[in-house]
Amino acid sequence: MKVLVLNCGSSSVKYQLLEMENESLLARGLLERIGTNDAVLTHQATGKKEVTRTFPVPDHKTAVKEVLSILFDPAYGVIKDVTEISAVGHRVVHAGEEFSGSVLLSTEVKEALKRCIQLAPLHNPPNLLGIEAAEALLPGTPQVGVFDTAFHANMPRHAFLYALPLELYEKYGIRRYGFHGTSHRYVAARAAELAGRNLNELKIITCHLGNGASITAIDGGQVADTSMGFTPLEGLVMGTRCGDLDPAIIPFLMEKEGLDIAGINRLINKGSGLLGLSGISNDMREIEEAAEKGSTRAVDALNVLVHRLRKYIGAYAAVLDGVDILVFTAGIGENSVKVRSLVCQGFSYLGLYIDEEKNRSPKKEKEISTPDSRVKVYVIPTNEELVIARDAAEIVSSLGQAPK
Ligand code: AMP
Repeated sequence: MKVLVLNCGSSSVKYQLLEMENESLLARGLLERIGTNDAVLTHQATGKKEVTRTFPVPDHKTAVKEVLSILFDPAYGVIKDVTEISAVGHRVVHAGEEFSGSVLLSTEVKEALKRCIQLAPLHNPPNLLGIEAAEALLPGTPQVGVFDTAFHANMPRHAFLYALPLELYEKYGIRRYGFHGTSHRYVAARAAELAGRNLNELKIITCHLGNGASITAIDGGQVADTSMGFTPLEGLVMGTRCGDLDPAIIPFLMEKEGLDIAGINRLINKGSGLLGLSGISNDMREIEEAAEKGSTRAVDALNVLVHRLRKYIGAYAAVLDGVDILVFTAGIGENSVKVRSLVCQGFSYLGLYIDEEKNRSPKKEKEISTPDSRVKVYVIPTNEELVIARDAAEIVSSLGQAPK
């Protein structure tokens, strides 16, 4: 069974085509600059040369059409036509309190996702455009929604409520939702596999450290707490997002700097985090390089990120009443030897120790804890597309349709 995974952003579509018999990647690509005359498609079929094309792409429907065309292309493609695609799995950012798992997309589900637009005004609309485009171009092919929030949907009430007047939760749905759920779910399950243990009996802390970053406490496979909240702004220090902040700073800055709502939103979402602290970059590679050359601002940025993360790990150890496994994933988590090393220092009270040689090993998926560490520490490359494809394949199989 072949599954197409689509991740539609406001001006881009990321895609993968997977063969689910052996979970192998057949092709992957990215179409960027949708809505312009010089959109760029970068496509690679496994085992073939990468190809880049530039052409006008006015909207998401054209974008998905171009993705399908290249998948059917005699030279660069991997399939004959749409009939070979058994399901489409869509990454959808926000399902609010509507769904706690992946679902077959129907008119009712799309209506529910439209109700969630007020919670994710930047993300859900392009996700829905991608769904509508795929429905039009692959009529009759089941479409499945996999939500960033779903894994966190059953987090306990004491973890998701803010200490605001309760009426505001009831009126506007102001609560903590959490994001990156598909990634946290994947790496937690993979960590349990690597440890040879049952997920249901483990206390796991997963650190998804990319340009956006979040950390999740998982008790027996269920989310006990996560650092992102009503929006992806809460929690850790990120590339350009500030993470946790005293809320009183917002009105203070609006007054002092003469900022309107758009201005303050830009500042805390796009101008803060590593970029704001360092004044250099939102990219950890550049921060590490500048810190080594003696930039005190880069050192600050690195230290604040590490300190905040360590605070959360300590807090989540308390939430879980202990930790069996700590996982690092996403761009920084998978690649930064330095961040992993700094974060893991000073956890002797948890019995957590890493082996610096293993930490430096070029292996992508690895255990980096010492043999006598009470907490196992893993680096696990995330694979959200695989989870989306697995969920789509499972839902389609449960429909009882013969796989194509
Ligand atoms: P992601 O959002 O998961 O794609 O992660 C992107 C971020 O990962 C980049 O902005 C970098 O900060 C970080 N990153 C990628 N490679 C490295 C590396 N070799 N060392 C440190 N950070 C890295």
